[in-house]
Amino acid sequence: MDNTQLHVAIVSSPGMGHLIPVLVLGNRLATNHNIKITILAITTTSSSSEIKFLKQSNEKKTIEIIPIPSVDISHLIDSTTKVITQLRLLVREALPGIRSGIASMNHRPDALIVDIFGTQMLSIAEEFNIPKYVFHTSTAWLLAVFIYQQVIDQEIQGEHVDLKQPLEIPGCKALQPDDVMDPMMDRNDQQYHEYLKLTMEYTCFDGILINTWKDLEGETIKALRSNEKLQPGLKVPLPIYPIGPLRRTFEITERDEVIQWLDKQNYESILFVSFGSGGALSSQQMIELAWGLELSQQKFVWVVRPPSDGDLDNAYLNSNGNDTRVMSEYLPEGFLTRTKDMGLVVPMWAKQVEILSHSSVGGFMSHCGWNSTIESLTNGVPMIAWPLYAEQKMNAAMLTEEIGVAVRPDISPTKKLVKREEIQGMVRILMDTKEGKSIREKAKKLKISAENALSEGGSSYNSMCELVKDIRTR
Ligand code: UDP
Repeated sequence: MDNTQLHVAIVSSPGMGHLIPVLVLGNRLATNHNIKITILAITTTSSSSEIKFLKQSNEKKTIEIIPIPSVDISHLIDSTTKVITQLRLLVREALPGIRSGIASMNHRPDALIVDIFGTQMLSIAEEFNIPKYVFHTSTAWLLAVFIYQQVIDQEIQGEHVDLKQPLEIPGCKALQPDDVMDPMMDRNDQQYHEYLKLTMEYTCFDGILINTWKDLEGETIKALRSNEKLQPGLKVPLPIYPIGPLRRTFEITERDEVIQWLDKQNYESILFVSFGSGGALSSQQMIELAWGLELSQQKFVWVVRPPSDGDLDNAYLNSNGNDTRVMSEYLPEGFLTRTKDMGLVVPMWAKQVEILSHSSVGGFMSHCGWNSTIESLTNGVPMIAWPLYAEQKMNAAMLTEEIGVAVRPDISPTKKLVKREEIQGMVRILMDTKEGKSIREKAKKLKISAENALSEGGSSYNSMCELVKDIRTR
C-alpha cells in the first residue's frame, strides 16, 4: 500500500454552524489518520467571531487554515432574499478565491471535501481532477430527502405549503406536512431553485460523509445504500460514509463564571437554553419563554440574544452582535431580579460544549441545529426541541417521535407562539416527571452507542477508515 501522506482540502461555508463541524472533521482526519489538512473557510460579513474562533481552535497548528474573506453580496439581495439563497450566493461569489487557493497549493489535494452549501465547487474539483466528497453535516434522513428531491419535485403538484399527506421517502420515515423544510415550500421563491440545484449537485459527488451513526439512523442508512427507489436516477448508489457523531472536544483551561456556577448545582438539575449561533425569537416569544422558565421553577442557564421580529432564518446571517439593546429592555419586567437565584442569563454566546458536558446539566432546550443536537446526544442530555429554520423541524420530529429523546411543542414554534403554560409543562416533563425518566434513559443509552460508534472497530470508525482507503485508491 502507498504510504505517502495524503492531502485533503476541506471547504466550509459561512456561519459558525458550518465552520465548527468542518474543523472537527479536519482535526480528526489529521490526528487519527495522519492526513495533511487544509481548510478553506469562507467567512460571513460578521466574520470577526469566526476568525477569532479559527485562531483559538488551531492553537496546536494541527491543520492549515486559509480564511477566504467574505464577499459583499448586498447588490445581489434585498430584504426578501431567503437564507439558502444568501448562503449559496456567498459561496458562489467566493468561488474565485477558493479556486486560486487550491491552484496555489504546492501539494495538490488528493481529495476535496465540501459542506452542504459548498456543492457549487463541483466544477473546481473537476477542473483540477480531484476526487470530491460532500460532508453532510446533518441527518441521513435529510440526505435521503435531498437525494429523492428530484422525484418529489416532479410528483408533487402545486405547492408543498398546501400538502395534506405525508411525503413518502422510500425506506425512510415519511415527512409530515408540518415538518417540511422552508426551502421546499414555495416554488416561486428563488430559494426553492437554489435548493433544487443543491440537491442535484449532491448526486454528482464521489461520496457523501454524514455526521450520523448506524445505531441512530440504521434504517435510513440502509435505504441510502441499497434502496433503488430512493436513488432512481443514479446508475450506482452514492457511496455513503456515516462517520459521526463528530463534535468538538475541549480542555477546560479556566472555569468561567457559568462553569463555576454549574459546579455549585445539583446533579442534572439545570436546563440549558440556547438556540444556536444565530437563532433569535420574536419579542413576544421571548416574553413567553421567560415566563415559562420562571413558572417552571426549574434552574436554568439561558443564552439570550435580542429578539428579532423579522424572518427568523435571516437572523442567522445577521447575528453579529451589533444590537445594543440591553436584556431588561426585552425581558419581562423584574424577570432578572426574580430569577437571580434560579438561573443565569448569558448574553449572546456561551461555551456550549463545556456546558452540555457538565454533570449539573440535565436538559437542553434547543433549536435542534444538528451540531447542537449531536453535542446534546453525545452527553446523554435529553432535549426540548424548539425548531426555528432550515431542517430543524425534521430534526425535532426525529428526536421526539422516532428516537424518543425529546419533547416538543404541540404546534411548531415556527407557526405559532408557544405559550408560557406549555413551556412550563415541557420543562417539567423533561426535568422531573416519570415521562421524562424514559426520555432521559434513552438519551443516556445513545451516549454510549455514540462512543461505541467512534471507538476503534466501531461503525463510524470503520467508515472513516474506508473513506481514507477510498481516497487513497482513487
Ligand atoms: N454555539 C456555542 N455557543 C453558543 C451558541 C452556539 O458554542 O452560544 C455552537 C454550538 O455548540 C454548535 C454551533 O455553535 O456547535 C451551532 O451549530 P448548530 O448546527 O447547532 O446550529 P446553527 O448555529 O448552525 O443554527
